[in-house]
This record gives sequence, structure tokens and C-alpha cells, in this order.
Amino acid sequence: MASQSLQRLEPAPAAAARRGQAAASPECGATARQEGAGSFDAASVLALQRQAGNRAVGRMLATQRMLQRTLTAAGDAAGFAAFANRVIGIQFEVVIGNGGVVSLRRTNVQGPPTPEAQELVRVLQLVIGDRNNTTIEFIHGRTSTRASDRRVMGGSFPQSKVDLDDEEARGTQGEVGLGMGVTGGALLVHEILEQYRKQVFSEDFDTAHAQALAAEATAIGAPRGTSTTRTLNATTREVTKTYTYPDGRVVEVIWDVTAGNIFNVRRRVVSPGRGSP
Ligand SMILES: [Zn+2]
Repeated sequence: MASQSLQRLEPAPAAAARRGQAAASPECGATARQEGAGSFDAASVLALQRQAGNRAVGRMLATQRMLQRTLTAAGDAAGFAAFANRVIGIQFEVVIGNGGVVSLRRTNVQGPPTPEAQELVRVLQLVIGDRNNTTIEFIHGRTSTRASDRRVMGGSFPQSKVDLDDEEARGTQGEVGLGMGVTGGALLVHEILEQYRKQVFSEDFDTAHAQALAAEATAIGAPRGTSTTRTLNATTREVTKTYTYPDGRVVEVIWDVTAGNIFNVRRRVVSPGRGSP
């Protein structure tokens, strides 16, 4: 009799396990809060409880709660996802859930990731995987009318903001090529890691920025080099940053800054030995 009732009960936990797998399998270990919890509606929980007993379901729900991940995108969250996905392109995609909760989902798009894509996925997994929340507001510096947004150059450490216009102006490695100095994806890596270190570890700017620079250099394949600025006119200055790759190749990335926004990004490969101007 005991074996009969066991046999009858067997399918329920198996089905429950399959449910859990189905909910988790598209993810890369970075399941979003609402996806983990939302995959069990009240009716299905009740049905599972009847079939499998409260304790088993309780354990499953506890597992789902442990998968709660916490990177929150405020402001233009959809714009952030769109740009991040332009950077990542293959294997993964950024998905925005309720309340701006960011998750990373596996895709079937195959191929080798660019260095900036690989680093962005790594940093997103790191931040999403921490139970402590990091919140970043994504803005558009070119069109925003808020006075505080004018001070956001790429990103603002104190304001926890990222200017998507500034990042997009630098393009992605898929668009400008590998080994061409800083890109928008590398800067996104920088800003996200910097905010994570600030918000979760209470690091000051210098400490968090050093970590962010290291991740940015991994994404670019070269450290951020010297920066020179010259005034073009009353409203615009020109910034040149120099990147030296391990093989000695030197690349300059040059852009104009007007009203705190990045325009007219251009790149120049400088032969080794020529040096920066
Ligand atoms: Zn920084």
C-alpha cells in the first residue's frame, strides 16, 4: 500500500522539478526576481502543494527566492537594454522586468563574444548575482531638460546616472572594430561596476573608479591612457585619449564635448613609435 501511494505521488515532484528547470534554464544563473517568483502563480502553487506536500513546495519556492537578483535600471531602462544588447549581441540578452529589474537571459545566437561583450556579461552577472541592490538611472543627456543631468559625462558617480547618449556615441566593438580604443560597451562596464562598488561596498570614488578602470581596460584590451583637451570654441572642447595595446599599437580616440555631451567621435591608429601628439 505504501509503495502504491508513493508511485502515485511520484509524478508530482518530477513535474515540479521540470517546472523549476523550465523557469531557470533560459537564464545564465542570473534569473530575475520577478521571473523566479512569477513562474509560480497561486493556482499552480496550490496544486503542487496538494500533490507534493507543503514542505517540498516550500523548498522549491525558497530556492526561487534565493535566485532573486538585484540590478535595477531606472529612467530609460528599455534604452539601456537596447544598447547593452547591441554590445552583447550573442549568447546572452539583457531583459528588463517589472520595476526595472535587470536579468540576463541565454539566447541561441552563437559566436565568439567581443572582449567588451564578455566583460559586460561578466559584470552584469556579478552585479545581478549580488543580493544587495544596485540602482542606476539611465538618462539621455542630449535631450534631458533636468539641470542635474548636464553634469553627467558618460556617467555620474554621485548621482548614480549613466548617459546613454554619451555611451552610444562611442559605439560598440561590433561597430567600430576590435582594438580601436574605448567603446560605449567598455564605458557601460565601467559605470555599472563603479556603481556596484559604490552602492554595495560603500567605496569612495577613487577606490571604485580604480576597479572600474581595470574592467574597462579588460573590455578595451588596453589601459586608458593619457588624455589631452583643447578648446575648439566658446562651447566646445576636444578630448583625445590614447590607448596603447600590448603589441605596441597606439590608437587615439577623439571626441568633441558640447554642453556635457559627446559628439563626433573619431579614431586614429597611430603607428608605434610615433607617439601621441
Ligand atoms: Zn570612474
